[in-house]
Amino acid sequence: MADDAIRCDACPVLCYIKPGRTGSCDRYGNRDGQLVRLDPHVMLEQARSRGESLVPFLEKSHEWDGTLVRDEETFVTAIGAGTTYPDYKPAPFIISSEVAGVDMVTVVTEGIFSYCGVKLKIDTDRHLGAECNTVRAQGEAVGHVTTSEYGSQMLSLGGVRHLTGGSRQEGTATCDALLNLCNGKAVELEIDGGAKVVVQADKPPIVDGVQEERMRVGCGSATIGMFAKQWFGKVDEVVVVDDHITGVLSEHQAGKLLGVAETGIKLKGRRSTPGRYFRVAEPGTSWGGTNISDPLSILGPFDPKIAKPGLRLLMVSTTGEQFAYFELDDALQPIESDLPTPLRESVLRIKENCEPALCTVLFMGGAGGSLRAGVTENPVKLTHSVREALTRVTCGGAPVYVWPGGGITIMADVSRMPANAFGYVPTPALVAPIEFTLKLSDYKTLGGYMDHVRPLRSIQRNDEAQRRVTSRADNPWPLRKTGAKE
Ligand code: SF4
Repeated sequence: MADDAIRCDACPVLCYIKPGRTGSCDRYGNRDGQLVRLDPHVMLEQARSRGESLVPFLEKSHEWDGTLVRDEETFVTAIGAGTTYPDYKPAPFIISSEVAGVDMVTVVTEGIFSYCGVKLKIDTDRHLGAECNTVRAQGEAVGHVTTSEYGSQMLSLGGVRHLTGGSRQEGTATCDALLNLCNGKAVELEIDGGAKVVVQADKPPIVDGVQEERMRVGCGSATIGMFAKQWFGKVDEVVVVDDHITGVLSEHQAGKLLGVAETGIKLKGRRSTPGRYFRVAEPGTSWGGTNISDPLSILGPFDPKIAKPGLRLLMVSTTGEQFAYFELDDALQPIESDLPTPLRESVLRIKENCEPALCTVLFMGGAGGSLRAGVTENPVKLTHSVREALTRVTCGGAPVYVWPGGGITIMADVSRMPANAFGYVPTPALVAPIEFTLKLSDYKTLGGYMDHVRPLRSIQRNDEAQRRVTSRADNPWPLRKTGAKE
């Protein structure tokens, strides 16, 4: 071009890039008239010693001494590899290596995902927002609250509708939130009619400015079952307050089997089965994920035919964070007093059994027709090969879960991937690394680009274009034998 600009065709934006400048996504630049991928290409090295493997993704600081590492100990990831766009081109790296005497091939590309999102698991009992309510980032709708799980609130973020189906601001805010979450950064989200929460992969959530510490030991009913024996004889009644299933010791099967006598207690809410109550209060961020700060507010009057003055009552939340101890006076009114030492131990035991609260970020995306076309001229064969476990799919060398059914729809825990593995393009869409590893003979059978296969040693060099990181010890090594169901 007249001004020496070159055109990048690595995504549909088709930037014209002047010398010394970068394109819109900062991933490609014009270096002396050459279009170059600017981030280093990440090579994964198998952890060889326990000491080394304990440090995830330890970056090599030493200079390369010229020794070629063995084929089976190096895995070429797609991070920094470049993309396949416009689809019919073979993937940027199709690398052969010999592993345990078998010729393998890894097809490597940075996929441009318009159909992608994040499933976010937030370990907290606190109510973040009603199911289906909109989740916002930078004021824009980026997802929704989905079904909560045991001890965790779940958000579903991203997806093609938020990326492409709304305003430009909505798409940009969605892409931004996904990119930051996938790259391990903190993101503030606000839920309509609910809480503000700061989330970050592998870190505790911060709900309305308060850092969550522990997830619940179980639902109220399960907590009664787990601790009934420890309470027996030390207290007459226990109520474990839970937004979903509040448990009552004397009525619960666990209490019955231990011979706990009736206490005349009356719970508000809906009795499900003996000793298990639903909806004793509204959802909230206080006791057991309810909105109550006074536990007595979920009790009705004690039955005077059964209850006795002096009756001892412990009320505790599912995390043991909140607790209160009462004794009935002559008018059968609960009067709060100090928690007796034996009961204090049981409350501490509940806390001790609660695991640390974390956020988990699962990237979810569909390897569509375009991405598969970079692997083989007959893309459906790749889908079949993945289904038959002849081809292993990884993201930055990390394991993925491949959904059953049609297509190649994957989920990957971003905290098992090397840092900053994700990028974006301003269409907007997320750029995620994806690798397909299979036997060379199987690659030939599925119509692979055999004339683009090159040996690992052809890219082994130690320049700024490469970054070598050590694999995580708890990740299966991606070059292990394929062909068996995983
Ligand atoms: S946005 Fe990035 S990948 Fe797309 S054309 Fe521009 S420089 Fe290339």
